[in-house]
Amino acid sequence: KPEKSFINVNYQAFNDTKGDTEGILVFGYDVTLQVTARKQLELHGEMMNQLYMNAPAFMCILRGPGYVYELVNPEYQKLFGKRKLIGKKIIHALPELKKTGILELLDNVYKTGVPYVATEMLLNMSRDQGKAPETMYFNFSYQPLYDLNRAIDGILVFGYEVTKQVLAKKQGEDDLRLILESIPQITITASADGDFTFFNQYFLEYSGWTLEEAIAGKGWKDIIHPEDMKEVIKKGRYSLATAEDFYNEINLKRKSDGMYRCHIVRITAIKDNLGKVMSWAGSAADIHDQKLFAEELKKQIEERIKLEDQKNHFISMASHELKTPVTSIKGYAQFLQQKFKKEGNTLAEGYLIKMDRQINKITTLINDLLDATKVTTGQLQYNEKPFDFNELVTEIVEDMQQTSKSHMINLSLDTSQMIFADRNRVGQVMTNMLSNAIKYSPRADHIIVNTKNKNHTIKFCVQDFGIGMNKENQPKVFKQFFRVSGTVQDTFPGLGLGLFISSEIIKRYKGTFSVISVEGKGSTFCFTLPVQKDVKL
Ligand code: ADP
Repeated sequence: KPEKSFINVNYQAFNDTKGDTEGILVFGYDVTLQVTARKQLELHGEMMNQLYMNAPAFMCILRGPGYVYELVNPEYQKLFGKRKLIGKKIIHALPELKKTGILELLDNVYKTGVPYVATEMLLNMSRDQGKAPETMYFNFSYQPLYDLNRAIDGILVFGYEVTKQVLAKKQGEDDLRLILESIPQITITASADGDFTFFNQYFLEYSGWTLEEAIAGKGWKDIIHPEDMKEVIKKGRYSLATAEDFYNEINLKRKSDGMYRCHIVRITAIKDNLGKVMSWAGSAADIHDQKLFAEELKKQIEERIKLEDQKNHFISMASHELKTPVTSIKGYAQFLQQKFKKEGNTLAEGYLIKMDRQINKITTLINDLLDATKVTTGQLQYNEKPFDFNELVTEIVEDMQQTSKSHMINLSLDTSQMIFADRNRVGQVMTNMLSNAIKYSPRADHIIVNTKNKNHTIKFCVQDFGIGMNKENQPKVFKQFFRVSGTVQDTFPGLGLGLFISSEIIKRYKGTFSVISVEGKGSTFCFTLPVQKDVKL
């Protein structure tokens, strides 16, 4: 297989004794290795050159202890406009670098051979000849270059300008500080490893420290309450280790009066897009007064609950105590009524019938009081069974019609349904609605009762044509003790408990209570109850 090789060759003619050319001496040697090595070197050099010239970073080679520009790539040249650099000493090309410390840095690398790396270094330089110096920031490195004898003979400068990024970051920090300064609370910032970098004026006034003292952070023992110190250190360490928020209540001493005031402190890590902690920002809000207020409020509420319990207990005891004598009075009245009836004393019998009705009213009032306290304490007893709804409605309406002759009760029933609930309690709700309708419509002569089945619910409504009530009062009537007041309303007796108890009973069975009313025209009170599914009558 033919191979490419390079040779150095020499053809030399040689003569015979007469002096005529007799032959050619071919003398040569193979230089393939040397040639390929050189070509590779040239290629390498070309590549390096390309790299220098097209790199998105600036590069230059400063040769000799005088730092003469030997090579400058376009990015480097861009920094200095049209200024001529190649062949010039750095100090002559850029005299403004004299007092920046740059030359000393170069000297150090040149002398020691230790490379230098700068991050966000600030330099005041002119972008072109005759232009005013500008603030610029650079990330760059100085690498020593060696000659064949391994002696340093130059420096490679490599870097890029980060002015825009640094200014943007600084602007962000300034904005943050401005915000932190404007908050009427303690605000702070700290470095990634937890050293404080900023405290707002509010804190300095509160603590009596100067900014330098605060940043030095030596006096925390005097400002944090001794009892809080352990917890603060523990949680602080934990946050630093995990980058999780620091959140704690801390009592901080106020310089002006030496008082420890409770603050709620939160310090949050500010992270870059890779989740690395860049810094910490925090605030402490003085919640001392609110805390005292909350404690006071809690005490008051507890006191009120206690009083409320005592009141409920008292009402329940009193109602109980009243019940026994009222029951005996009722017994005696009924006995006397029978006696007078037998004797034919109709006048006395009539009085005793009236007396019995009044006793019934007292009994209802006592029962309402007892039920209301039981509802509020969750002690109302329920006895649940399935029952026929229409049967109950008819029963209650008939009973009511018996005792109330002033109003005709018009009843209109939809098909009946089975309901699963406490029959007596639901009956109690209906009685309450009917007696209200009669009570609050003294000038009317009838009320309408109807039921409707729809979507597995049954709706029971009582409509009257009485005093009604305005919109504002309508939702309030279901509250305990609420009674609509006014010259007309005040003439009706009652405790404001019936609808409260009724709505609680209906709520227990997942039903709803509603009222539609027009003042002076009358009201319609309704409740709904879910029907027992899959149970046919
Ligand atoms: P009470 O009737 O004993 O005061 P309720 O709880 O039954 O207690 O009713 C609360 C209040 O709602 C009544 O005081 C009354 O102002 C109003 N109210 C109830 N039913 C009617 C009605 N049918 N018409 C007008 N107002 C009514």
